[in-house]
Amino acid sequence: MPSYSAIPDVHVDSVDLWTHLLGSENTKDENKHLFVDVDDESRFLSRRTVRQKSKAFGNALRTTWNWQKGDVLAIFGPNDIDWPTILFGTLWAGGCLSPISFTFTAQELAFQLKNSSTKAIVTHPAGLKTAQEAARLVGLPQSRILLFGPKDLGSKLNCKYYSELESIGPVPRRYTFEPKKDTALLVYSSGTTGLPKGVSLSHWNLVAQCIQLTLTEVEAATAGYETKLLAFLPFAHIYSIMEGVIRILATGTQVIVMPKFDFQRALAAIQKFRITYIYVAPPILLALARSPLVDQYDISSIGGIMSAAAPLATQLIEDVYTKFKIPVKQAYGMSEASPAVTHQMDWEKAMIYKGSVGTLLPNMSAKWVDLDGNEVAKGQEGELWIKGPNVFAHYHENPQATENSFSDDGWYKTGDVGYEDEHGNYYITDRVKELIKYKGYQVAPAELEAMLLKNPKVKDVAVLGMYVEEMASEVPRAFIVPTEGNKPSDQLAKEIVAWLDAQVSYPKKLRGGVQFVEEVPKSPTGKILRRLLKDKYGTKISAA
Ligand code: AMP
Repeated sequence: MPSYSAIPDVHVDSVDLWTHLLGSENTKDENKHLFVDVDDESRFLSRRTVRQKSKAFGNALRTTWNWQKGDVLAIFGPNDIDWPTILFGTLWAGGCLSPISFTFTAQELAFQLKNSSTKAIVTHPAGLKTAQEAARLVGLPQSRILLFGPKDLGSKLNCKYYSELESIGPVPRRYTFEPKKDTALLVYSSGTTGLPKGVSLSHWNLVAQCIQLTLTEVEAATAGYETKLLAFLPFAHIYSIMEGVIRILATGTQVIVMPKFDFQRALAAIQKFRITYIYVAPPILLALARSPLVDQYDISSIGGIMSAAAPLATQLIEDVYTKFKIPVKQAYGMSEASPAVTHQMDWEKAMIYKGSVGTLLPNMSAKWVDLDGNEVAKGQEGELWIKGPNVFAHYHENPQATENSFSDDGWYKTGDVGYEDEHGNYYITDRVKELIKYKGYQVAPAELEAMLLKNPKVKDVAVLGMYVEEMASEVPRAFIVPTEGNKPSDQLAKEIVAWLDAQVSYPKKLRGGVQFVEEVPKSPTGKILRRLLKDKYGTKISAA
């Protein structure tokens, strides 16, 4: 029997996200400074200003560029308080936002622009050159590039700010939304296999997730923790845009926005703003537990930390608690689930069931299955399949990948392996999908394999994730059969690593190095048998 959330169902309104979060003007915190720039407190946004500015931007998109329902606006840049305006402006215009990792090279950016049929791109001055090159590669007119971020940074650049896009008179919101069908966010994920794909998250998915998570928020609020957040994880990832942008408007919690993660600057900001809550990926807990820098700052304002996006070693939870008496709770999810599936709802229980990723969010059901898709007994390990209003309906223009990802009766196959204990606590122990997580960033093995095969010295290759304890992260490692005449050697390994690293963005670099093998094991249909490689070579390596 599938499991169902122990929390009573919540009602999910059938509205679009803009209306859900900004439609009503009567909330008590209309003028509260919700989004504040960590470097310049005079740059802030309240709910009222997000509403006004997003309407103005949406209006400009509609009237100037004839923005149509479903048109995609890409955003490529660091975290900034302009993100809410750009997201909600696009939604106001009936479009959808496609966030793109600011680590990307021009080629990687071009892939996403093309795959998503992006109509215009908003970038930060620091990303303008890359955006211009990517636009050239896909034939997107340069006039369709706009800037965001602090105005002084881009004053000498020959490019318009998004807020300067003229509006040709106010127009009413024209579109009739179909919240279950219309895409609000198009985020990219490799899912269980292959290259990155556009995960089409509908308005309904995101409204549902806001409501599902509000419950955990209530729990946290009673503990007095989540009153001031610091956002440093990239908003281009669903975890951070949900926690640091969308949910801020749902909860009215203040967020101090950092452009990107920098450990020392984060510590300084925690001290300065008396931050009460941070959401992190596991390597940040490692830094907290081990870095001597922490002793130079007062971080006693923090009441709790949430970790998600990648596997977390239980030892780190203990180390952080022993050192600071700060409880750590875990959540688990994926881009395809908007993203949260489970959450540790209660801080005290989080410290009892350390290592668990929590219990199912309301309105969700789940089951654990074996390799043939048959349900395993409760408590046994299996692949997790899920259903819920927050689970996406399809990959963007990729019916084949969509079909492969769902069972005939509508379960989304997460590709994650784990089990559920007798109290409904979920544990994630392994992955049957190909995905590698480098510090929370997705790395698709198929993408690196395709590139490596272009190297004349590589005859065959499989890329796998190896866990490095000293980094609290997985890293990609290539198992390579060299072409004839190229004898395996350290020199050859180094050469191949350098060749690949020069072409890919920061998270995709071959930090796990190269292991030469005699053959890459494959099934009769040509599918790489990754499990055999894992069994033979293990799943962990030490830092070089
Ligand atoms: P993404 O779509 O980038 O959010 O990646 C989702 C994947 O990250 C999941 O399918 C898991 O494999 C992994 N993941 C996310 N949260 C956790 C967690 N708390 N523990 C272990 N793995 C996680």
